[in-house]
Amino acid sequence: AKSGGKNQYELYHQDMHQNETKQMILETYLRKALERNELYLVYHPIVDTNTMEIVGVEALVRWKQKTLGNIPPSEFIPLAEETGLIVPLSEWIIQKACEDLNSIHLNGSKIRMNINVSSLHFSQDGFIKSLNEIFQKTNVSTRHIVLELTESMIMPNALETVDKLVKLKQLGIKLSIDDFGTGYSSLSYLRRFPLDTLKIDQSFIKGIAMYKEDSSIVEAIIMMANRLNLKVVAEGVENKKQYELLKKEKCDYIQGYYITKPLPKHQLLALLQNWDEN
Ligand code: C2E
Ligand code: CA
Ligand code: CA
Ligand code: CA
Repeated sequence: AKSGGKNQYELYHQDMHQNETKQMILETYLRKALERNELYLVYHPIVDTNTMEIVGVEALVRWKQKTLGNIPPSEFIPLAEETGLIVPLSEWIIQKACEDLNSIHLNGSKIRMNINVSSLHFSQDGFIKSLNEIFQKTNVSTRHIVLELTESMIMPNALETVDKLVKLKQLGIKLSIDDFGTGYSSLSYLRRFPLDTLKIDQSFIKGIAMYKEDSSIVEAIIMMANRLNLKVVAEGVENKKQYELLKKEKCDYIQGYYITKPLPKHQLLALLQNWDEN
C-alpha cells in the first residue's frame, strides 16, 4: 500500500462508476502509450535456491500514464489483449528486453531473460517470425532467453501448439510454464511439449509455511518436475520460512519479494554488481 494519500490512478478508479467509459478512456491512452514512451520494463531476479546466485530476471512491463499515474499490468494487459494492441506492445516488450539483456551481458552478468508471452501474440501465425526478427535485429543470445507461457495458452489446438513450441526450441530459447497449477486439469501436455521449466503459481507458495495442503501440492509438483527433467521456479516467495521450505524440498529456483521487488535496469545492474560480494 502507498504511504501517503491515494495516487491519481486510485482516485480515478474510485470516481469512475461507468466501467465502459473507463475502458474506453484507458484504451485511448493505451494507443498513445507506446509513442509517448510511457511504458518501461522492470526486472525481477530469479535466484538459485542452493547457491543464491542470480541466474536470471523476468521482464515485467509498467505503464506510467501522464495524468492517471501508474496503471498496473493486471489492468492494461487484458485490455491490450481485447483490443489487439497487445501485439505491437508485446513486440516492443520483447525487443526492449533483448536490448537490455545485451547490455546486462556487456556488464559481465551472463544471466537469462524471462519474457512473458501474450496469448493473442502467441496464437498469431506471425508469432515465430516476429520473434525471429527481433532476435536477428538485436543479435541477442537466444540460449539466454526464456519464454513464459501459460497452460491456457498452449492447450487449445494442441497439435499446432507442439509444432510451434518445437520451432521455438529450434531458435535456441527455453520454455517455461507460468502460473503452473492454476490453468488446466490435464497434465498430459507435459509429456508432449518440449518444456524446460515449471513456475509454481504464487497462490500455492503463499500458504506453504502454514497449510499442509499447499506444501503437499508444492512438494508433489517439485517431485514430478524432477522426474520429468524439468526445472522448477517458485514465485511469490516473500519470507525466509518459505525459502527454507522450498530449499528443503529441492526447488531449483525462487523469485519473490524475499529477494527483492522488480527493479528498473540501472538498479538491477547495481544489484548484480554487488550481489556476489554478499
Ligand atoms: P506473472 O507473470 O505471474 O508475474 C508475477 C507477478 O507477481 C508480477 O506482478 C510480480 O511483480 C508479482 N510478484 C513477484 N513476486 C512477488 C511476491 O513475492 N509477492 C507478491 N505479492 N507479488 C509478487 P505484475 O508485474 O503486476 O504483473 C502481473 C501480471 O501481468 C503478470 O503475472 C503477467 O501475467 C502480466 N504481465 C506483466 N508484465 C508483462 C509483460 O511484459 N508481458 C505480458 N504479456 N504480460 C505481462
Ligand atoms: Ca510470468
Ligand atoms: Ca506467474
Ligand atoms: Ca500470474
